[in-house]
Amino acid sequence: MSDDNIASAIEAELIELSGLLTEPGERECLRCYLLRMIYEFGCDGTHRWTTRWRDARAPQARGLVRKLQRLGACCCDCEVLLNVYPDYPDTDRLLPCAGQPHRGSCAPCNLRLLRRTA
Ligand SMILES: [Zn+2]
Ligand SMILES: [Zn+2]
Repeated sequence: MSDDNIASAIEAELIELSGLLTEPGERECLRCYLLRMIYEFGCDGTHRWTTRWRDARAPQARGLVRKLQRLGACCCDCEVLLNVYPDYPDTDRLLPCAGQPHRGSCAPCNLRLLRRTA
């Protein structure tokens, strides 16, 4: 294996690893996913995490970004959290996602329900 091959093998592994880290959870809702990604990686001023979540969890929701823009998230992912999902329990740490209400839905999970049963 030449140095070039080793370098590209490592690169491929890193890409795969970052893919896993930014993969939305099996039933992770858009809000919890965005919180997690912005907390870990920050916002780059675009809807990149929203788009990534949509591709994985709600591929049919083609108009999702436009819809969120109409709701006040005109430019980026943190605006989605601030303007579209402002209702988050007052906490200093991220709560585990209570689960996407149903497949393909961009509604946030019900964290109150989780807290009541916990
Ligand atoms: Zn932002
Ligand atoms: Zn959630």
